[in-house]
Amino acid sequence: MIQSPLNLYGLDRSQLEAMFQERGLQAFRGRQLMKWLYHQELKDFSAMTDLPLNMRQWLTENCVLELPSVVERHISKDGTVKWILKVAQGDLVEMVVIPDKGRNTLCVSSQIGCTLDCSFCSTGKQGFNGNLTPADIVGQVLIANSYLAENDKSVTNVVLMGMGEPLMNFDAAITATNVMKDDHAFGLSKRRVTISTAGVVPAIRKLHEVTDVALAISLHAPTDDLRNELVPINRKYPIAELLQACREYIEFLGPARKLVIEYTLMRGINDQAEHAHQLAELLRDVRCKVNLIPFNPFPGSGYARPKSQDIRDFQTHMMRAGYVTMLRTTRGEDINAACGQLVGQVNDRTSRQRRYKNKLEAVQPQLIKVR
Ligand code: SF4
Repeated sequence: MIQSPLNLYGLDRSQLEAMFQERGLQAFRGRQLMKWLYHQELKDFSAMTDLPLNMRQWLTENCVLELPSVVERHISKDGTVKWILKVAQGDLVEMVVIPDKGRNTLCVSSQIGCTLDCSFCSTGKQGFNGNLTPADIVGQVLIANSYLAENDKSVTNVVLMGMGEPLMNFDAAITATNVMKDDHAFGLSKRRVTISTAGVVPAIRKLHEVTDVALAISLHAPTDDLRNELVPINRKYPIAELLQACREYIEFLGPARKLVIEYTLMRGINDQAEHAHQLAELLRDVRCKVNLIPFNPFPGSGYARPKSQDIRDFQTHMMRAGYVTMLRTTRGEDINAACGQLVGQVNDRTSRQRRYKNKLEAVQPQLIKVR
């Protein structure tokens, strides 16, 4: 049963086809509509001339094409662009485009805040006020593309790595990534659309049933003891269970595909030689590449960026152990767009935002924990 008005940016191709079939029309009408929406970027249903007239009228009366509204846009001196977007609930979420060597990677948000509360993440401190809709997520790609089009560019890669845990908003994340991959819409390769998760194991196990996008794991620690502190969902789904679910998904993707391991380096916490050694051992039988992300500080985080030498030593250790290991350069720091710094404005329905503010006031003189 379709509710009115229906935001068509929230439907993937199979859902659009079903919508037409329910009205006695052929499925290919859904593909025609998609091309109008994403290739022609037309918003006026009456001008979609290859659709039957009665269907155009029905679309006009029952459907809308709505995007999150742009509240602010900030451009970093390194070219990174951050948007602050208002969604229907009135909350603000953030998205970032990172231009790099001909690629334009869009980091999209999937939730308003996050429930998982990783100890080093600024988003987690904002609490939570619900999921974004598929249209909110697809809308982020449309907004980024319309900005990039001013310079004849477009989004080349999407990572669901902004605010929120995409696998806690599973159906919306899958629908939105379907639209991203669809040749009738954005036409991005399955290798260029990445779901990044802190480790929601039951959802990882379901992925192969519905998608073939790339998978990144926010690992950040080589042992359960440490990961329990940094990424609390680890208490529920420990590392061994998580990596087994990942192995199975990567097997399903095929021999040419690799898991991405995201590892944020924090000074004195997880950036020492012993940690690099443990990580190399841990990943020995996982087909993966490793992204090292030096921590981007924010007020009251309690963590610090590692020393440069420790970052280099960690990377060298991983490379010598045989891993393709990238060091992610910090981008957009001057506009608070760097990894882990996205906050938006969340009408928190938990008490986490308040607790964090109280803690911040209490620890003001000793913000940074350095070993
Ligand atoms: S790191 Fe990701 S999963 Fe963890 S709190 Fe931040 S947004 Fe949520």
